[in-house]
Amino acid sequence: MPHDALVAGRDVKFFSIIFLFAIAVGCAVSPARTQEGELPRCEAPISNAGVNWVSRLFKWETRTSPVHIAGPIYFVGTEGLGAYLIKTSDGHILLNTGMRSSGPMIEWSISQIKHLAPKGKHEEVKTKNIKWLLANHAHVDHVGGHAYFKESDKFAIEEVRVRKPDTLLLADGGKTDFQYRNCKGFAFPAVAGVKDFDEDRQQSGTYLPFTRGDVSLQIIPTPGHTRGSTTFMAEVEHHGKKYKVVFLDGANVNLGYKVNPLKEQSYTDIDEDFRATFKRLISLEPDIWLSAHTADFDFDDKRKLAATKQSPEPWLDRGGPDGYKCFVARRWVEFERRARAPVTEAAQHLSKHCTSP
Ligand SMILES: [Zn+2]
Repeated sequence: MPHDALVAGRDVKFFSIIFLFAIAVGCAVSPARTQEGELPRCEAPISNAGVNWVSRLFKWETRTSPVHIAGPIYFVGTEGLGAYLIKTSDGHILLNTGMRSSGPMIEWSISQIKHLAPKGKHEEVKTKNIKWLLANHAHVDHVGGHAYFKESDKFAIEEVRVRKPDTLLLADGGKTDFQYRNCKGFAFPAVAGVKDFDEDRQQSGTYLPFTRGDVSLQIIPTPGHTRGSTTFMAEVEHHGKKYKVVFLDGANVNLGYKVNPLKEQSYTDIDEDFRATFKRLISLEPDIWLSAHTADFDFDDKRKLAATKQSPEPWLDRGGPDGYKCFVARRWVEFERRARAPVTEAAQHLSKHCTSP
């Protein structure tokens, strides 16, 4: 199938989302320049309305029940946003916290995990055992609830970690975001004391795994979406079998991002960051893939399957047009077009991975 058809056929949903987001967010960023002639300014009231509208449309702030994915991994997000509780033998990891209002929604979802247990098994999660707070990246829709978990007495968060560039964003509530600074609707409560992941001093630019108890998360830098965007990968055991689970991040080139190196760039070398990200993402071989946006991995459809099929069956990546690699390849092609760069390598992946198995 021609690449264009592949992109057009499967991506209607995605581009509709982007288009709608464009209306909401594009309106929020005034094209007018300041007197000094530098940065676009966000008009706060419109920005607020835009983000709230997108949030309502995609149910970012609609509470939903938890779902067991595989082994120690539970979906505890909202209808539209992915948050994940990962149980370890030494306490629990919470990955992402949704919007500013999402803290209590995620807390409620975690409290419902006990109902997922098979008869005779006890799976209640004690909130005080949630010790580590992570995020794919520091935007309001994924770290909006961080302060809630960090500051409430109901939790005992020991560490908040993101990759270094995003520690600054978390510390200032998004005020230094290259795209959304000055945009009130994108601001979130600042979080103090955020740490970077440990770098592997032997191999510069790589990270040591984030290991707590019996769970080890591989830290995969996937910059561009934010400078600190991070994909995580874990190998987990479920009923005696091992599964590679990828928590994908960094594949979305938001509307308004400037990635053409021959023109203006949102930040220097953003195009090289995104390209490196896509190469890293396409090289991963997940058995299961998840994301901070539920629409990315067809959460609704898979959750319906989960009502009749035991985990992890509904969550397994089956490849083809709905698979992980096709998702990445589509985003990669779209990025290269936006960057006005040769699309050959990305298109080869599109052809290879987006046809039905
Ligand atoms: Zn984002």
